[in-house]
Amino acid sequence: MLNEGFRESMSFRECVDRMVDRAIVATGLDPSTAKIIQACNVVSQIKFPACVRGTVEIFTGWWAIHSSHRLPAKGGLRFAPMVNQDEIEALAALMSYKCALADVPFGGAKGGLLINPAKYTEEELRMITHAFGTELARKEYLNPSLSVPAPDMGTSSREMAWLADAYKSIFPEDINQNACVTGKPLNHGGITGRVEGTGKGVQFAIREFFRHPEELEATGLIDGLAGQRIVVQGLGNVGFHTAKFLTEEDGVIVIGVIEQDGAVVNPDGLNIHNLRQHLAETGGVKGFAGSDYSENGAEVLEMECDILIPAALESQIHANNAMAIKAKLIVEAANGPVTYEADEILRHRGVTILPDIYVNAGGVTVSYFEWTRNLSHMRFGRLQRRFDELRGHTYLHALEQLTDKTTPDKLRDEIVRGASELDLVRSGLDDTLRTAFQDMRDVIKHNENIHDFRTAAYTVAVAKIAQSYYDLGLANPGGKP
Ligand code: GLU
Repeated sequence: MLNEGFRESMSFRECVDRMVDRAIVATGLDPSTAKIIQACNVVSQIKFPACVRGTVEIFTGWWAIHSSHRLPAKGGLRFAPMVNQDEIEALAALMSYKCALADVPFGGAKGGLLINPAKYTEEELRMITHAFGTELARKEYLNPSLSVPAPDMGTSSREMAWLADAYKSIFPEDINQNACVTGKPLNHGGITGRVEGTGKGVQFAIREFFRHPEELEATGLIDGLAGQRIVVQGLGNVGFHTAKFLTEEDGVIVIGVIEQDGAVVNPDGLNIHNLRQHLAETGGVKGFAGSDYSENGAEVLEMECDILIPAALESQIHANNAMAIKAKLIVEAANGPVTYEADEILRHRGVTILPDIYVNAGGVTVSYFEWTRNLSHMRFGRLQRRFDELRGHTYLHALEQLTDKTTPDKLRDEIVRGASELDLVRSGLDDTLRTAFQDMRDVIKHNENIHDFRTAAYTVAVAKIAQSYYDLGLANPGGKP
Protein backbone atom coordinates (compact mmCIF):
# COMPACT_ATOMS: atom_id res chain seq x y z
CA MET A 1 0.00 0.00 0.00
CA LEU A 2 1.10 3.55 -0.60
CA ASN A 3 1.18 5.37 2.69
CA GLU A 4 -1.68 7.82 2.93
CA GLY A 5 -2.31 7.63 6.62
CA PHE A 6 0.90 8.56 8.43
CA ARG A 7 0.99 12.18 9.52
CA GLU A 8 4.25 13.83 10.43
CA SER A 9 4.41 16.48 13.12
CA MET A 10 4.72 19.10 10.38
CA SER A 11 2.83 19.64 7.17
CA PHE A 12 4.28 19.07 3.69
CA ARG A 13 4.75 22.82 3.19
CA GLU A 14 6.52 23.15 6.55
CA CYS A 15 8.76 20.21 5.58
CA VAL A 16 9.82 22.01 2.39
CA ASP A 17 10.37 25.29 4.28
CA ARG A 18 12.48 23.59 6.94
CA MET A 19 14.63 21.90 4.29
CA VAL A 20 15.15 25.25 2.56
CA ASP A 21 15.96 26.83 5.96
CA ARG A 22 18.96 24.51 6.21
CA ALA A 23 20.38 25.97 2.98
CA ILE A 24 19.58 29.50 4.10
CA VAL A 25 21.37 29.03 7.41
CA ALA A 26 24.33 27.21 5.86
CA THR A 27 24.91 30.00 3.33
CA GLY A 28 24.07 32.91 5.63
CA LEU A 29 21.40 34.38 3.35
CA ASP A 30 19.85 37.44 4.97
CA PRO A 31 16.52 36.66 6.69
CA SER A 32 14.51 39.31 4.78
CA THR A 33 15.43 37.89 1.39
CA ALA A 34 14.82 34.38 2.71
CA LYS A 35 11.32 35.40 3.79
CA ILE A 36 10.55 36.90 0.38
CA ILE A 37 11.76 33.76 -1.38
CA GLN A 38 9.86 31.31 0.82
CA ALA A 39 6.46 33.03 0.78
CA CYS A 40 3.90 31.68 -1.63
CA ASN A 41 2.89 34.66 -3.82
CA VAL A 42 -0.65 33.72 -4.73
CA VAL A 43 -2.96 30.87 -3.91
CA SER A 44 -6.53 30.73 -5.14
CA GLN A 45 -9.24 28.29 -4.30
CA ILE A 46 -11.68 27.91 -7.15
CA LYS A 47 -15.14 26.40 -6.84
CA PHE A 48 -16.99 25.79 -10.06
CA PRO A 49 -20.11 23.94 -11.15
CA ALA A 50 -20.37 21.15 -13.70
CA CYS A 51 -23.49 19.24 -14.60
CA VAL A 52 -22.82 15.51 -14.28
CA ARG A 53 -25.55 12.99 -15.17
CA GLY A 54 -28.25 15.60 -14.78
CA THR A 55 -27.02 16.87 -11.39
CA VAL A 56 -24.98 19.99 -10.72
CA GLU A 57 -21.78 19.17 -8.82
CA ILE A 58 -19.53 21.83 -7.29
CA PHE A 59 -15.86 21.04 -7.75
CA THR A 60 -12.99 22.51 -5.73
CA GLY A 61 -9.57 23.25 -7.15
CA TRP A 62 -6.49 25.32 -6.34
CA TRP A 63 -3.84 27.15 -8.28
CA ALA A 64 -0.77 28.42 -6.42
CA ILE A 65 1.98 30.64 -7.76
CA HIS A 66 4.89 30.41 -5.40
CA SER A 67 7.20 32.76 -7.29
CA SER A 68 6.93 35.02 -10.29
CA HIS A 69 10.47 36.43 -10.40
CA ARG A 70 10.50 34.75 -13.82
CA LEU A 71 7.41 34.31 -15.96
CA PRO A 72 5.51 32.26 -16.79
CA ALA A 73 5.11 30.45 -13.49
CA LYS A 74 5.20 26.74 -14.21
CA GLY A 75 4.00 23.55 -12.67
CA GLY A 76 1.80 20.49 -12.87
CA LEU A 77 -1.93 20.26 -12.34
CA ARG A 78 -2.94 17.19 -10.35
CA PHE A 79 -6.31 15.49 -10.18
CA ALA A 80 -6.66 13.50 -6.98
CA PRO A 81 -9.25 12.69 -4.33
CA MET A 82 -6.95 13.94 -1.56
CA VAL A 83 -5.42 17.28 -2.63
CA ASN A 84 -5.40 20.24 -0.27
CA GLN A 85 -4.06 23.77 -0.22
CA ASP A 86 -1.02 23.04 1.96
CA GLU A 87 0.09 20.33 -0.45
CA ILE A 88 -0.38 22.56 -3.50
CA GLU A 89 1.63 25.36 -1.88
CA ALA A 90 4.42 22.91 -1.00
CA LEU A 91 4.48 21.56 -4.55
CA ALA A 92 4.48 25.09 -6.01
CA ALA A 93 7.47 25.94 -3.82
CA LEU A 94 9.29 22.82 -5.03
CA MET A 95 8.65 24.00 -8.61
CA SER A 96 10.34 27.37 -7.93
CA TYR A 97 13.47 25.69 -6.57
CA LYS A 98 13.42 22.97 -9.24
CA CYS A 99 13.26 25.49 -12.10
CA ALA A 100 16.05 27.56 -10.56
CA LEU A 101 18.30 24.52 -10.05
CA ALA A 102 17.68 23.24 -13.60
CA ASP A 103 18.13 26.71 -15.10
CA VAL A 104 14.63 26.70 -16.49
CA PRO A 105 13.67 30.40 -16.63
CA PHE A 106 10.26 30.06 -15.00
CA GLY A 107 8.66 30.82 -11.66
CA GLY A 108 7.05 28.02 -9.65
CA ALA A 109 3.37 27.09 -9.62
CA LYS A 110 1.10 24.13 -8.97
CA GLY A 111 -2.55 23.28 -9.19
CA GLY A 112 -4.90 20.64 -7.95
CA LEU A 113 -8.45 19.50 -8.48
CA LEU A 114 -10.25 17.53 -5.82
CA ILE A 115 -11.65 14.67 -7.85
CA ASN A 116 -11.54 10.91 -8.15
CA PRO A 117 -11.12 10.54 -11.94
CA ALA A 118 -12.11 6.85 -11.76
CA LYS A 119 -15.66 7.89 -10.87
CA TYR A 120 -16.28 9.70 -14.16
CA THR A 121 -16.52 8.77 -17.83
CA GLU A 122 -14.05 10.23 -20.29
CA GLU A 123 -16.65 12.65 -21.62
CA GLU A 124 -17.55 13.80 -18.10
CA LEU A 125 -13.88 14.33 -17.31
CA ARG A 126 -13.47 16.34 -20.51
CA MET A 127 -16.35 18.57 -19.56
CA ILE A 128 -15.13 19.05 -15.96
CA THR A 129 -11.56 19.77 -17.14
CA HIS A 130 -12.87 22.23 -19.72
CA ALA A 131 -14.89 24.02 -17.04
CA PHE A 132 -11.87 24.18 -14.70
CA GLY A 133 -9.66 25.32 -17.61
CA THR A 134 -12.10 28.12 -18.39
CA GLU A 135 -11.94 29.31 -14.76
CA LEU A 136 -8.15 29.11 -14.78
CA ALA A 137 -7.87 30.97 -18.10
CA ARG A 138 -10.22 33.77 -16.96
CA LYS A 139 -8.03 34.30 -13.89
CA GLU A 140 -4.82 34.17 -16.01
CA TYR A 141 -3.66 30.95 -14.34
CA LEU A 142 -3.78 29.31 -17.75
CA ASN A 143 -1.89 31.73 -19.92
CA PRO A 144 1.18 31.37 -22.23
CA SER A 145 2.96 34.40 -20.72
CA LEU A 146 1.95 34.17 -17.08
CA SER A 147 1.12 30.70 -15.84
CA VAL A 148 1.47 27.40 -17.67
CA PRO A 149 0.15 24.10 -16.24
CA ALA A 150 1.46 20.64 -17.17
CA PRO A 151 0.62 16.99 -16.44
CA ASP A 152 1.01 15.72 -12.89
CA MET A 153 -0.54 12.97 -10.82
CA GLY A 154 -3.90 11.95 -12.31
CA THR A 155 -3.48 14.04 -15.47
CA SER A 156 -1.80 13.41 -18.82
CA SER A 157 -1.59 14.81 -22.35
CA ARG A 158 -5.33 14.18 -22.68
CA GLU A 159 -6.24 16.68 -19.94
CA MET A 160 -3.67 19.15 -21.31
CA ALA A 161 -5.39 19.07 -24.72
CA TRP A 162 -8.72 19.81 -23.00
CA LEU A 163 -7.18 22.71 -21.07
CA ALA A 164 -5.65 24.15 -24.27
CA ASP A 165 -9.04 23.85 -25.90
CA ALA A 166 -10.64 25.83 -23.05
CA TYR A 167 -8.00 28.57 -23.42
CA LYS A 168 -8.45 28.71 -27.19
CA SER A 169 -12.19 29.08 -26.92
CA ILE A 170 -11.72 32.23 -24.80
CA PHE A 171 -8.65 33.66 -26.59
CA PRO A 172 -8.88 32.42 -30.20
CA GLU A 173 -6.83 35.39 -31.45
CA ASP A 174 -3.77 34.58 -29.31
CA ILE A 175 -1.11 33.47 -31.78
CA ASN A 176 0.80 31.74 -28.95
CA GLN A 177 -2.25 29.91 -27.61
CA ASN A 178 -0.55 26.50 -27.81
CA ALA A 179 2.00 27.63 -25.20
CA CYS A 180 -0.72 28.04 -22.51
CA VAL A 181 -0.05 24.49 -21.31
CA THR A 182 2.70 21.88 -21.81
CA GLY A 183 2.65 18.11 -22.03
CA LYS A 184 0.14 18.28 -24.87
CA PRO A 185 -0.43 15.46 -27.37
CA LEU A 186 2.02 15.55 -30.28
CA ASN A 187 -0.47 16.73 -32.88
CA HIS A 188 -1.70 19.49 -30.60
CA GLY A 189 1.65 21.23 -30.23
CA GLY A 190 3.31 18.73 -27.91
CA ILE A 191 6.98 17.81 -28.13
CA THR A 192 8.56 14.40 -28.72
CA GLY A 193 10.05 13.15 -25.47
CA ARG A 194 7.74 14.94 -23.00
CA VAL A 195 5.88 11.80 -21.86
CA GLU A 196 9.12 9.97 -21.12
CA GLY A 197 10.83 13.22 -20.02
CA THR A 198 10.69 12.93 -16.24
CA GLY A 199 11.73 9.24 -16.27
CA LYS A 200 14.50 9.92 -18.78
CA GLY A 201 15.67 12.71 -16.51
CA VAL A 202 15.75 10.34 -13.51
CA GLN A 203 17.95 8.00 -15.56
CA PHE A 204 20.28 10.87 -16.54
CA ALA A 205 20.45 11.99 -12.90
CA ILE A 206 21.43 8.49 -11.73
CA ARG A 207 23.94 8.10 -14.54
CA GLU A 208 25.57 11.40 -13.62
CA PHE A 209 25.80 10.35 -9.99
CA PHE A 210 27.47 7.10 -11.05
CA ARG A 211 30.12 9.09 -12.94
CA HIS A 212 31.57 10.33 -9.65
CA PRO A 213 33.62 7.75 -7.74
CA GLU A 214 34.01 9.90 -4.59
CA GLU A 215 30.25 10.23 -4.19
CA LEU A 216 29.75 6.55 -4.94
CA GLU A 217 32.21 5.56 -2.29
CA ALA A 218 30.01 7.06 0.41
CA THR A 219 27.15 4.82 -0.71
CA GLY A 220 29.19 1.66 -1.20
CA LEU A 221 27.86 1.34 -4.76
CA ILE A 222 31.26 1.19 -6.34
CA ASP A 223 30.69 -1.41 -9.05
CA GLY A 224 28.92 0.79 -11.59
CA LEU A 225 25.26 1.01 -12.46
CA ALA A 226 24.84 -2.33 -14.26
CA GLY A 227 23.54 -5.02 -11.92
CA GLN A 228 22.34 -2.66 -9.17
CA ARG A 229 19.11 -3.89 -7.58
CA ILE A 230 16.37 -1.33 -7.37
CA VAL A 231 12.96 -1.03 -5.76
CA VAL A 232 10.49 1.35 -7.40
CA GLN A 233 7.44 2.75 -5.65
CA GLY A 234 4.76 3.69 -8.17
CA LEU A 235 4.55 2.42 -11.74
CA GLY A 236 2.83 5.49 -13.17
CA ASN A 237 4.37 7.53 -15.95
CA VAL A 238 7.51 8.51 -14.01
CA GLY A 239 8.14 5.18 -12.27
CA PHE A 240 7.50 3.18 -15.41
CA HIS A 241 9.81 5.18 -17.67
CA THR A 242 12.53 5.29 -15.02
CA ALA A 243 12.42 1.51 -14.57
CA LYS A 244 12.15 0.90 -18.31
CA PHE A 245 15.20 3.01 -19.24
CA LEU A 246 17.32 1.76 -16.35
CA THR A 247 16.64 -1.90 -17.11
CA GLU A 248 16.79 -1.65 -20.92
CA GLU A 249 19.79 0.65 -21.24
CA ASP A 250 21.81 0.39 -18.04
CA GLY A 251 21.43 -3.24 -16.97
CA VAL A 252 19.76 -2.39 -13.67
CA ILE A 253 17.58 -5.09 -12.05
CA VAL A 254 14.16 -4.10 -10.70
CA ILE A 255 13.64 -6.48 -7.78
CA GLY A 256 10.53 -4.86 -6.30
CA VAL A 257 7.63 -2.68 -7.41
CA ILE A 258 5.17 -1.14 -4.97
CA GLU A 259 1.72 -0.06 -6.11
CA GLN A 260 -1.65 0.87 -4.58
CA ASP A 261 -2.72 -2.74 -3.97
CA GLY A 262 0.59 -4.03 -2.59
CA ALA A 263 3.97 -4.99 -3.97
CA VAL A 264 5.60 -7.64 -6.14
CA VAL A 265 9.12 -8.94 -5.67
CA ASN A 266 11.47 -11.04 -7.75
CA PRO A 267 15.18 -11.09 -6.81
CA ASP A 268 16.05 -12.05 -10.42
CA GLY A 269 14.27 -9.04 -11.84
CA LEU A 270 10.73 -8.09 -12.87
CA ASN A 271 9.78 -7.53 -16.50
CA ILE A 272 8.62 -3.93 -16.40
CA HIS A 273 6.65 -3.95 -19.67
CA ASN A 274 4.69 -7.04 -18.69
CA LEU A 275 4.08 -5.70 -15.22
CA ARG A 276 2.80 -2.40 -16.60
CA GLN A 277 0.47 -4.31 -18.89
CA HIS A 278 -0.74 -6.45 -15.98
CA LEU A 279 -1.38 -3.27 -13.97
CA ALA A 280 -3.36 -1.74 -16.85
CA GLU A 281 -5.43 -4.89 -17.29
CA THR A 282 -6.13 -5.78 -13.65
CA GLY A 283 -5.74 -2.44 -11.87
CA GLY A 284 -3.05 -3.82 -9.54
CA VAL A 285 0.19 -5.79 -9.29
CA LYS A 286 -1.35 -8.76 -7.47
CA GLY A 287 -1.16 -12.00 -9.47
CA PHE A 288 1.75 -10.93 -11.67
CA ALA A 289 3.32 -14.10 -13.02
CA GLY A 290 6.77 -15.02 -11.69
CA SER A 291 6.69 -12.74 -8.66
CA ASP A 292 5.95 -12.90 -4.95
CA TYR A 293 3.07 -10.69 -3.95
CA SER A 294 2.80 -8.88 -0.64
CA GLU A 295 -0.23 -6.91 0.41
CA ASN A 296 1.95 -4.77 2.62
CA GLY A 297 3.82 -2.47 0.20
CA ALA A 298 5.43 -0.55 3.08
CA GLU A 299 7.39 -3.71 3.92
CA VAL A 300 8.93 -3.75 0.45
CA LEU A 301 9.93 -0.11 0.81
CA GLU A 302 12.13 -1.34 3.66
CA MET A 303 13.57 -4.35 1.85
CA GLU A 304 17.25 -4.78 1.24
CA CYS A 305 18.22 -3.20 -2.12
CA ASP A 306 20.83 -0.89 -3.63
CA ILE A 307 18.67 1.94 -4.90
CA LEU A 308 15.19 2.90 -3.72
CA ILE A 309 13.21 5.06 -6.14
CA PRO A 310 10.03 6.50 -4.64
CA ALA A 311 8.07 7.63 -7.71
CA ALA A 312 4.58 8.02 -6.27
CA LEU A 313 3.20 10.23 -3.52
CA GLU A 314 4.78 12.61 -1.03
CA SER A 315 5.61 11.65 2.60
CA GLN A 316 6.21 7.96 1.91
CA ILE A 317 9.43 7.83 3.93
CA HIS A 318 8.70 9.38 7.30
CA ALA A 319 9.87 9.43 10.91
CA ASN A 320 8.29 6.01 11.54
CA ASN A 321 10.02 4.04 8.78
CA ALA A 322 13.22 6.02 8.06
CA MET A 323 15.25 3.87 10.45
CA ALA A 324 14.13 0.71 8.64
CA ILE A 325 15.06 1.78 5.10
CA LYS A 326 17.94 -0.39 3.90
CA ALA A 327 18.66 1.12 0.48
CA LYS A 328 22.11 2.61 0.03
CA LEU A 329 20.85 5.36 -2.25
CA ILE A 330 17.43 7.02 -2.38
CA VAL A 331 16.51 8.68 -5.67
CA GLU A 332 13.47 10.93 -5.27
CA ALA A 333 11.56 10.65 -8.52
CA ALA A 334 8.35 11.81 -6.79
CA ASN A 335 7.89 15.25 -5.27
CA GLY A 336 8.50 15.27 -1.53
CA PRO A 337 8.61 11.51 -0.88
CA VAL A 338 10.88 11.96 2.18
CA THR A 339 9.63 14.13 5.03
CA TYR A 340 11.84 16.59 6.87
CA GLU A 341 12.12 14.35 9.92
CA ALA A 342 12.92 11.30 7.81
CA ASP A 343 15.50 13.31 5.93
CA GLU A 344 17.21 14.22 9.22
CA ILE A 345 17.24 10.55 10.29
CA LEU A 346 18.56 9.31 6.94
CA ARG A 347 21.24 11.99 6.79
CA HIS A 348 22.48 11.03 10.22
CA ARG A 349 22.47 7.38 9.18
CA GLY A 350 24.67 8.37 6.20
CA VAL A 351 22.15 7.32 3.53
CA THR A 352 22.69 9.31 0.34
CA ILE A 353 19.62 10.99 -1.11
CA LEU A 354 19.37 12.54 -4.55
CA PRO A 355 16.62 15.12 -3.95
CA ASP A 356 13.37 15.60 -5.86
CA ILE A 357 14.12 19.09 -7.14
CA TYR A 358 17.13 17.61 -8.93
CA VAL A 359 15.95 14.11 -9.82
CA ASN A 360 12.55 14.90 -11.31
CA ALA A 361 13.48 18.20 -12.97
CA GLY A 362 13.38 16.43 -16.34
CA GLY A 363 9.63 16.96 -16.66
CA VAL A 364 9.69 20.71 -16.41
CA THR A 365 12.88 20.87 -18.47
CA VAL A 366 11.18 19.19 -21.43
CA SER A 367 8.11 21.36 -20.77
CA TYR A 368 10.41 24.36 -21.21
CA PHE A 369 11.55 22.95 -24.56
CA GLU A 370 7.91 22.42 -25.55
CA TRP A 371 6.99 25.98 -24.57
CA THR A 372 9.84 27.50 -26.63
CA ARG A 373 8.88 25.22 -29.54
CA ASN A 374 5.31 26.54 -29.31
CA LEU A 375 6.54 30.14 -29.34
CA SER A 376 8.76 29.48 -32.34
CA HIS A 377 5.93 27.61 -34.09
CA MET A 378 8.41 25.10 -35.43
CA ARG A 379 9.67 21.67 -34.47
CA PHE A 380 13.27 21.48 -33.27
CA GLY A 381 15.69 20.27 -35.93
CA ARG A 382 13.40 21.09 -38.86
CA LEU A 383 15.79 23.60 -40.40
CA GLN A 384 19.10 21.84 -39.93
CA ARG A 385 18.46 18.08 -39.96
CA ARG A 386 18.93 17.42 -43.68
CA PHE A 387 21.70 20.00 -43.89
CA ASP A 388 23.61 18.16 -41.17
CA GLU A 389 23.02 14.90 -42.99
CA LEU A 390 24.41 16.34 -46.21
CA ARG A 391 27.45 17.69 -44.42
CA GLY A 392 28.01 14.26 -42.84
CA HIS A 393 27.99 12.69 -46.29
CA THR A 394 30.48 15.29 -47.56
CA TYR A 395 32.92 14.70 -44.65
CA LEU A 396 32.67 10.96 -45.06
CA HIS A 397 33.19 11.17 -48.80
CA ALA A 398 36.27 13.36 -48.31
CA LEU A 399 37.64 10.99 -45.64
CA GLU A 400 37.13 7.94 -47.83
CA GLN A 401 38.85 9.64 -50.77
CA LEU A 402 41.82 10.69 -48.63
CA THR A 403 42.28 7.32 -46.93
CA ASP A 404 41.15 5.13 -49.81
CA LYS A 405 39.03 3.13 -47.35
CA THR A 406 35.27 2.59 -47.06
CA THR A 407 33.32 3.15 -43.87
CA PRO A 408 31.34 0.21 -42.44
CA ASP A 409 27.59 0.71 -42.99
CA LYS A 410 26.66 0.99 -39.29
CA LEU A 411 29.27 3.68 -38.67
CA ARG A 412 28.24 5.47 -41.88
CA ASP A 413 24.62 5.66 -40.70
CA GLU A 414 25.70 7.06 -37.35
CA ILE A 415 27.97 9.70 -38.86
CA VAL A 416 25.58 11.04 -41.48
CA ARG A 417 22.45 11.01 -39.35
CA GLY A 418 20.97 14.46 -38.65
CA ALA A 419 19.51 14.97 -35.17
CA SER A 420 15.77 14.34 -34.74
CA GLU A 421 13.66 16.32 -32.28
CA LEU A 422 13.92 13.45 -29.78
CA ASP A 423 17.73 13.45 -30.08
CA LEU A 424 17.81 17.17 -29.36
CA VAL A 425 15.36 16.96 -26.46
CA ARG A 426 17.32 14.15 -24.83
CA SER A 427 20.60 15.95 -25.39
CA GLY A 428 19.25 19.14 -23.79
CA LEU A 429 17.85 17.13 -20.90
CA ASP A 430 21.10 15.27 -20.30
CA ASP A 431 23.03 18.55 -20.34
CA THR A 432 20.60 20.12 -17.87
CA LEU A 433 20.94 17.29 -15.35
CA ARG A 434 24.70 17.08 -15.68
CA THR A 435 25.09 20.81 -15.17
CA ALA A 436 22.77 20.85 -12.15
CA PHE A 437 24.72 17.97 -10.59
CA GLN A 438 27.99 19.84 -11.08
CA ASP A 439 26.44 22.90 -9.43
CA MET A 440 25.39 20.83 -6.39
CA ARG A 441 28.83 19.23 -6.19
CA ASP A 442 30.53 22.61 -6.32
CA VAL A 443 28.44 23.77 -3.37
CA ILE A 444 29.42 20.71 -1.32
CA LYS A 445 33.07 21.15 -2.28
CA HIS A 446 33.23 24.82 -1.39
CA ASN A 447 30.99 25.00 1.66
CA GLU A 448 32.14 23.13 4.73
CA ASN A 449 28.66 23.35 6.31
CA ILE A 450 26.98 21.47 3.48
CA HIS A 451 27.41 17.73 3.03
CA ASP A 452 24.18 16.50 1.48
CA PHE A 453 22.72 16.92 -2.00
CA ARG A 454 19.38 18.29 -0.83
CA THR A 455 20.90 21.23 1.03
CA ALA A 456 23.28 21.74 -1.87
CA ALA A 457 20.39 21.75 -4.37
CA TYR A 458 18.44 24.29 -2.32
CA THR A 459 21.57 26.40 -1.92
CA VAL A 460 22.01 26.62 -5.70
CA ALA A 461 18.32 27.36 -6.21
CA VAL A 462 17.97 29.92 -3.43
CA ALA A 463 21.12 31.77 -4.55
CA LYS A 464 19.75 32.09 -8.08
CA ILE A 465 16.31 33.27 -6.95
CA ALA A 466 17.87 35.72 -4.46
CA GLN A 467 20.04 37.15 -7.20
CA SER A 468 17.06 37.78 -9.41
CA TYR A 469 15.28 39.59 -6.54
CA TYR A 470 18.44 41.65 -5.94
CA ASP A 471 18.62 42.50 -9.65
CA LEU A 472 15.03 43.73 -9.57
CA GLY A 473 15.65 45.73 -6.40
CA LEU A 474 13.00 43.71 -4.55
CA ALA A 475 15.51 42.64 -1.93
CA ASN A 476 19.06 43.58 -1.13
CA PRO A 477 22.00 41.50 -0.02
CA GLY A 478 22.33 43.51 3.23
CA GLY A 479 18.82 42.48 4.15
CA LYS A 480 17.52 46.07 4.49
CA PRO A 481 14.00 46.66 3.17
N1 GLU B 1 4.42 17.88 -12.83
C1 GLU B 1 5.80 17.96 -13.14
C2 GLU B 1 6.61 18.33 -11.92
O1 GLU B 1 6.17 18.19 -10.82
C3 GLU B 1 6.08 18.80 -14.37
C4 GLU B 1 5.78 20.25 -14.29
C5 GLU B 1 5.91 20.98 -15.63
O2 GLU B 1 6.25 20.36 -16.62
O3 GLU B 1 5.63 22.19 -15.62
O4 GLU B 1 7.75 18.71 -12.03
